[in-house]
Amino acid sequence: MPTNTPTTTTSGAGPAAACRGVVRIYSSPTGEVHALKGVDVTVPPGRMTAITGPSGSGKSSLLRILAAQDTPTAGHAEVAGHALTGLSARGLRALRRRHIGYVFARPTDNLLRHLTATEHLAMAARLRHVPRPVAREQGEQLLELLGITTRAHHLPGQMSGGEQQRLAFAQAVIGSPALVIADEPTGELDTATTGDLLAAVGELTRAGTTVLMATHDPLAADAADQVLHLRSGTVAHEVRDGRRLAVIDTDGRLQLPDDALAALAATGTTRVVVETTPDGVHVRRAT
Ligand code: ADP
Repeated sequence: MPTNTPTTTTSGAGPAAACRGVVRIYSSPTGEVHALKGVDVTVPPGRMTAITGPSGSGKSSLLRILAAQDTPTAGHAEVAGHALTGLSARGLRALRRRHIGYVFARPTDNLLRHLTATEHLAMAARLRHVPRPVAREQGEQLLELLGITTRAHHLPGQMSGGEQQRLAFAQAVIGSPALVIADEPTGELDTATTGDLLAAVGELTRAGTTVLMATHDPLAADAADQVLHLRSGTVAHEVRDGRRLAVIDTDGRLQLPDDALAALAATGTTRVVVETTPDGVHVRRAT
């Protein structure tokens, strides 16, 4: 892929990022917290993947691991084919710089008050070692793609919250990292601005960027190509092509959807019969 395309992603056919059996246990004064309990996730390249789930379900823990800001207690995680486990702090930093862009929830956390939009992009490109002419061209293309060309020489304080978040995405994408991670990027925006930002992020993914975002926002989840729903530190279900799919992890564990769980609980049983039939596997209440 040429280096001056506005946005690119991992080369080859592999996933942009993946986790296998990822466990994250925190130590706290009151004991251990099992935040991730064996998470398997595949983030396809050039798509928008949303991570949803109630507060405390493990979204931030998973994002931090895939952003190379934290390492799993056990299991395997990789970005652009590079393992994130067993790396030194320096190795993680290098991997972050080259392969991962990050967008925080609060526009002001993403930007520096004294730099214009163009200066932000130039700085981000320098950190990714993008040659200056390529950076300039890519920067202009990104501002256009994200609809903020007229803000090129404005400071963050002269932009709306939505424009600031678009610039944060442009900054995360310049230099074509394999993965752009966004933690609740629409959390501080109103509904109309959220819609505009999601449309702009959709343009980025169509141009090849891989976006992984944690969100509580149904609009953001609806805009995603794939939704991973976490429940108590595991992937409860995925939504792909409008279909809700239960996930079987590498150890063969399957989380029942909430309605199925409630139906079983109503019968007072926690034991089921599992039957393999020509069309699949059936889970039946034991009578
Ligand atoms: P979410 O992003 O879905 O709200 P988190 O990943 O932040 O979930 O948290 C998952 C669980 O891990 C929660 O029970 C939270 O309290 C706990 N947790 C997160 N970070 C830490 C930490 N640094 N130390 C101890 N417990 C933590």
